[in-house]
Amino acid sequence: MTNRHRLLRLLPFACALPLVSVASAQEASTAVASVEVHMLANEGFLLRAGDVDVLIDAFVETPYAGYGNLDAATLDALVATRAPFDDVELALASHKHRDHFQPATAQRFLAAAPGCVFASSPDVIDTLWQAEAAEVSEQSIRDVQPAPGETQALEFDGVRVEFFELTHGISGLTNFGHVITLGGMKVLHIGDAEIRRDSFVPFAELLGTVDVALIPFWYFTNPPGAKILAEFLPDAQFVACHIQPTALDETTATLGRDRPEVTVFAKALDRKVFRKREASAPDVLRER
Ligand SMILES: [Zn+2]
Repeated sequence: MTNRHRLLRLLPFACALPLVSVASAQEASTAVASVEVHMLANEGFLLRAGDVDVLIDAFVETPYAGYGNLDAATLDALVATRAPFDDVELALASHKHRDHFQPATAQRFLAAAPGCVFASSPDVIDTLWQAEAAEVSEQSIRDVQPAPGETQALEFDGVRVEFFELTHGISGLTNFGHVITLGGMKVLHIGDAEIRRDSFVPFAELLGTVDVALIPFWYFTNPPGAKILAEFLPDAQFVACHIQPTALDETTATLGRDRPEVTVFAKALDRKVFRKREASAPDVLRER
């Protein structure tokens, strides 16, 4: 670790202060609410609403434990910050496992995208600094540490993120759930949250407002997982992810039969636009 990095890690939470006002997020909620979800690899996504682009679990360059990695063309575009990665303002990572986060890849991207903020747990940030492959400005890093059972929020221009811990089931490993609000839509990513109802209970109110949920496929195929989704995410539209490439056809067929409303993307950069469900429309009208 360099002195520079050491210094950064000694800084208190001043470096996690909001960057920009919430006005743009509120304005977006009165427009037509929608978000475009782009598949990357495994549990990696690009979220886009208007001119707001957010990456989560995107930096997966090499396959790990049988799970998918970015294909060569998508990886090249990512680390060269070419479209659709040319204007990403925020990058997130759920946890440090290599099927979700690979530090050298993250460094290459962040060095090429000096305007992009990377916000994650101390676990992930420590891992990032262990790879000294490229020059990343410490100014772009936000260390996030929500207290157990609580959320911590960061606001950026047009996007708000609520971070909270959902246990992976491995002692000492931080796994974040994220609720990312952009384009008037709330998108949930749970990383590798263990199927455990009591993990979700403290966040029930927030989860009840989620519009789009990006969920490991085993939640849909395992009854206790499906029960958690039904209880805590009553209004969500679902995307299934974290599917091994060798199991993609079979899992797509199974979910197509049993949960046809769940989106399963076939390959990197496939995308879908999600809009507010009609059930939410009266609330939006009432606000006006
Ligand atoms: Zn994991």
